[in-house]
Amino acid sequence: MGIIVQKFGGTSVVTQEARCRVAEHVASAVNSGKQCVVVVSAMGRAGDPYATDTLINLARQVYEDTSAREMDLLISCGEIISSVIVANTLKAHGIDSMVLSGGQAGIITDSNFGNAQIIRVEPDHLLRHLSEGKVVVVAGFQGVTESGDITTLGRGGSDTTAAALGVALGAEVVEIYTDVDGVKTADPRLVPDASTIDRMSYEEICQMAHEGARVIHPRAVEIAMRRNVPLRVKCTFKESPGTLITYSFEAGRPWPSVRNGRPVTAVTHIPNLARVKLLTSEIPQELEFELFRSLADVGISVDMINVSPEAIAFVVSESVADRAERTIRALGLEVSICRGCAKVSIVGSGMRGLPGVMARLLQAMKDAGIRVLQTADSHVTISCLVKIENLELAVRALHSAFGLDNKSPLAEEKKGE
Ligand code: ADP
Ligand code: ASP
Ligand code: MG
Repeated sequence: MGIIVQKFGGTSVVTQEARCRVAEHVASAVNSGKQCVVVVSAMGRAGDPYATDTLINLARQVYEDTSAREMDLLISCGEIISSVIVANTLKAHGIDSMVLSGGQAGIITDSNFGNAQIIRVEPDHLLRHLSEGKVVVVAGFQGVTESGDITTLGRGGSDTTAAALGVALGAEVVEIYTDVDGVKTADPRLVPDASTIDRMSYEEICQMAHEGARVIHPRAVEIAMRRNVPLRVKCTFKESPGTLITYSFEAGRPWPSVRNGRPVTAVTHIPNLARVKLLTSEIPQELEFELFRSLADVGISVDMINVSPEAIAFVVSESVADRAERTIRALGLEVSICRGCAKVSIVGSGMRGLPGVMARLLQAMKDAGIRVLQTADSHVTISCLVKIENLELAVRALHSAFGLDNKSPLAEEKKGE
């Protein structure tokens, strides 16, 4: 009998009405003869009583510096509460179910509290309950260290739980249920008519997730990819096939790199960034190394790094901009920080080696009256930094310029082929 893992995000478990939809999806898997593992997130988003952000704020109201270990203990409760309520809902629908915390489900992690990595999964306990004919509901986002401390897997980490269990159990598929009907060509909050991508590769979704498409956690994709477990992103509230994610090979042959006539698959964004800039003429070369070492020592990760004989520029999360400024000034260096920035990226394996993509991007930004502050690229991504007030406009401009909104010249060219 095949195993299926179904993961339900915060908005899919926040009301009893939503949880009844969850029960329908689980019933349909069980009725089709599958053994079913259900992974749940904490109920709702910031402001909802048992959501992760609500629990974080609860601790911070009393004391700003809760230790990472204790914060993990607290926020793991959000998923535990949710798992019991979801299992109760399943039982109310006549589905025999039981609950395991992440640790009880055999998820063993390192002790990097707040962003722990899964070391291994010991699925025996879970498999025993499955073989008794039960649906096992697992609290997502958490694990346990070898010494018994509860850890969490980083924000959005219930997807990682689902992928890790899918791999450990040899699942046929891991279904990620959320509030949108699949992976879209842009965040539908910014581009309401973004279309759903029916099929994509692990590599592309991974790149999208790293560049801000939070519909799935990048680590979940990396884990599923290692063992070739298919992922399907679907909507809890709507019947639709969603997005199937697999390798970009079918019957041993690669997919064409440019699909639907479009080199770009999606536009992604990351808000709330700050640009850090130093004039290189004022920095002795040995201090360049010191600069990045000092930032690493205080736990600041840098992105869009550009080191040239004229200047050093890079991007940090706005939440650590003050810390970055203090750290750099402590080295005796002058620095200018531009807060209120956002990163907008085009992602697509079809742009690999294709001339003209950068020109089209810059033309679109110019036509929209948007100044690009900095760019960075990889073989399947081009990113640009803009002021946050231009974020929505920039995402829409690129979505249209690369033919993703079905109204643009590229889409027309395609129709005329
Ligand atoms: P869940 O709680 O179900 O894990 P998340 O909030 O983590 O849900 O992820 C779903 C959200 O991801 C959607 O509501 C949507 O706004 C956002 N999102 C960002 N980029 C994309 C994209 N390219 N396709 C689909 N959704 C996206
Ligand atoms: N509840 C956790 C979070 O909000 C994990 C998740 O939802 O995937 O980050
Ligand atoms: Mg999520």
